[in-house]
Amino acid sequence: MSQKRRRITCICCQQPGIHRGRQLIEPCYDRAWAHRTLDRFPLQPHATPWLPTGPHGRKMLARYTELVAERASRKRILWELGLETERSIQRYEAARRHLASQEASA
Ligand SMILES: [Zn+2]
Repeated sequence: MSQKRRRITCICCQQPGIHRGRQLIEPCYDRAWAHRTLDRFPLQPHATPWLPTGPHGRKMLARYTELVAERASRKRILWELGLETERSIQRYEAARRHLASQEASA
């Protein structure tokens, strides 16, 4: 699976350029790499993440979003939602961010 270099608007500086990775153009990617801050930039921001489809999942996501707003600890979030793993929190987090960014761009 090869990814063609495409022209993008860099998510860091909003300048157009050749995509290097993580939606960054080359100078910004190199800088982030050098500063070890690449983790701040999402790997696949345009990929649609998992989203809950049933009423239960939607309720869970709504509760998750509330807990995040309340700055609840991860431990509490896991406990309240009855989640088993860190990976499940990441799914909710990706879904929450995806919905938040949709609201922001609407
Ligand atoms: Zn940039």
